[in-house]
Amino acid sequence: MREQTFIIVGASLAGAKAAEELRTAGFDGRVLLIGAEIERPYERPPLTKDYLRDESPREKAYVHEPSFYEQHQIELETDATVTELDSAQSRIKLADGRWVEYHRLLLATGAEPRRIAIAGAELNGVHYLRTLADCDALRDRLQIGGRVVVVGGGWIGSEFAASARQRGLEVTVVDPSPLPLERIFGAEIGAFYRDVHSDHGVELLLGEGVEAFAGEHAVTRVRTTTGHAIECDFVLVGIGVTPRVELASGAGLEIDNGILVDDKLQTSMPGVFAAGDVAHALHPFYGERLRVEHWSNALNQGQAAAHAMLGEPVSYDRIPYFFSDQYDVGMEYSGHAPEWDEVIFRGDPADGEFIAFWMREERVVAGMNVNVWDVNEHVQALIRAREPVDRAALADRDTPLDSLFAKPTTPS
Ligand SMILES: Cc1cc2nc3c(=O)[nH]c(=O)nc-3n(C[C@H](O)[C@H](O)[C@H](O)COP(=O)(O)OP(=O)(O)OC[C@H]3O[C@@H](n4cnc5c(N)ncnc54)[C@H](O)[C@@H]3O)c2cc1C
Repeated sequence: MREQTFIIVGASLAGAKAAEELRTAGFDGRVLLIGAEIERPYERPPLTKDYLRDESPREKAYVHEPSFYEQHQIELETDATVTELDSAQSRIKLADGRWVEYHRLLLATGAEPRRIAIAGAELNGVHYLRTLADCDALRDRLQIGGRVVVVGGGWIGSEFAASARQRGLEVTVVDPSPLPLERIFGAEIGAFYRDVHSDHGVELLLGEGVEAFAGEHAVTRVRTTTGHAIECDFVLVGIGVTPRVELASGAGLEIDNGILVDDKLQTSMPGVFAAGDVAHALHPFYGERLRVEHWSNALNQGQAAAHAMLGEPVSYDRIPYFFSDQYDVGMEYSGHAPEWDEVIFRGDPADGEFIAFWMREERVVAGMNVNVWDVNEHVQALIRAREPVDRAALADRDTPLDSLFAKPTTPS
């Protein structure tokens, strides 16, 4: 394959892992990794956590050492935007006017923060958090201290609120839901996270939206839909992300809540693949398409895409997984539970250490371990087993989780 050129658009986690995996798998052609940001690929989780709080060095956030790309003959072009995909001629166009032909193309263009469309949205001091540059600006604000209003109690808002409190700021979270994270987890876990934040001194204004930002040049006040006026020094908006599909849609690829791909991560255009936050991928285990906006999906799908680009058999079927750290509450969640019948607890949320299982027709469809470790593999095995599970045994801390699903038999 020495004569072949594989291009990866998007130099973040999915793109960087795909490039690395191409070399690990022995691909000896040209690998071009193109990213719009000025940074070499980095991981985003530290941007709401240790790096934001100034507790870890910038270097720790990067996916690879600077020398990695040259050592592996990966042509990394940063600060370079791909503006056009001409799939008929298998080539891409860069913002500087260059056209480059490819044999295989991976779109790992990720997602971008949804912008808020209210009065005052353009004022200084209204921040979003996706990139290292966004994070650097917010780190400076945390250094100064003061009062921040966080718009949105989802993952970014919740983790940012925790870090801001840990840095001593006064924090108000505004969210139209009755409880933070309720949409994904339901009322019990929503209430758990509400209490975690209020115990740490966050003011939560729930069940109300944000109507306007006000201030002369910079935001100094946030008005909510129920008429609250909150004084502030700055605002963080975390109201979700949208997949970056412009390049793909401009080339006529099939789009629906992301770039549509099959379980081989192949788009509707032969030779063009997609992975990470941008990919709405057919999941063989669930028999439906999922678009997963989490770190482990970007990492693993990027690697899987590399093998698919090489023409190897691939069927990406990992159970969705993510993690979150807020104050001293660390958690891992596995599964996909758009609906459930009940949530069973092993341990008491009030103690801060527990496992929650989302049940559907007596089967575990998702599980979340909070400050309990080394169980996630078992949670995933329970999900994969798709067998009815005894509720009492699930709730009983003394019943080993791995006794609740059949283990694969090893040939004698
Ligand atoms: C602050 C923050 C904290 C997070 N914390 C967690 C966590 O604790 N746990 C967890 O599981 N997940 C977390 N996530 C989610 C996780 O980081 C994402 O799922 C992951 O970054 C997705 O990687 P990606 O490579 O698919 O896309 P992205 O990281 O979005 O990267 C896409 C890249 O493509 C580039 N690009 C786009 N279009 C073009 C173009 N036309 N030309 C060139 N380049 C282009 C972009 O500039 C960007 O650099 C967090 C995300 C954020 C923002």
